[in-house]
Amino acid sequence: MLSIKNLHAGIEDKDILKGINLEVKAGEVHAIMGPNGSGKSTLSAVIAGNENYEVTEGSVELNGEDLADLAPEERAHKGVFLSFQYPVEIPGVSVTNFMKTAINESRKAKGQEEMPANEMLKLIREKSELLEIDRKFLSRSLNEGFSGGEKKRNEIFQMAMLEPKLAILDETDSGLDIDALRIVANGVNKLKSENNAIIVITHYQRLLDYIVPDFVHVLYNGRIVKSGGKELAYELEEKGYDWIKAEN
Ligand code: ADP
Ligand code: MG
Ligand code: MG
Repeated sequence: MLSIKNLHAGIEDKDILKGINLEVKAGEVHAIMGPNGSGKSTLSAVIAGNENYEVTEGSVELNGEDLADLAPEERAHKGVFLSFQYPVEIPGVSVTNFMKTAINESRKAKGQEEMPANEMLKLIREKSELLEIDRKFLSRSLNEGFSGGEKKRNEIFQMAMLEPKLAILDETDSGLDIDALRIVANGVNKLKSENNAIIVITHYQRLLDYIVPDFVHVLYNGRIVKSGGKELAYELEEKGYDWIKAEN
């Protein structure tokens, strides 16, 4: 699904990613952990095609296709989904209407017709039931006055609707209460399948009490310095990141 080879990237004159190698197969959930400032958000931004970052070496491939020349929207249409760290507020546009537009834009970009209204309603009903999202929430203005948990619910709903091949959830280091963690975790657990892959980026081990990753990677100073199974997350919880810093 995703194959990253010797990826170097940075911003202006600053090198941030210094040779990342990562293979993610369909059906897998990978967790990327690491201390603040390691490059976790940069990695997700570079995979999604954020043009503020410059790739200086290496490659990112999705199902064998090099993504280098593709804009963020094109990557999204190929099935890359990045949760929004800073969601925009759109007063007067409901969660549902925003989603309808996003789905139809995506179909248009692929040369498909708009989704028929009844099919759209069915999809919205199906996904919102799966994630236990109530109708009242669907009619609220996008992100306006949303709590941290509601923003997460909206992100997970978007992920469910768009059915990405590769979903990257970059959990900001702050402000995620236990409710929000549960929402993200339930969503991931319900949406994972043999046909998609999920990368969960998190500073804290807590989230991994609810999502069991197949692989855990530690990113430090722009490199993956350790990879393992879920037990690595427990080791990090117990020992913190200092031993990682000392070894590297
Ligand atoms: P993490 O998500 O692991 O906390 P980031 O990817 O946000 O790490 O940041 C990695 C490093 O790159 C940090 O030193 C950060 O200050 C720097 N960095 C990230 N984005 C930018 C940017 N837009 N401009 C300048 N420096 C940046
Ligand atoms: Mg950070
Ligand atoms: Mg970050």
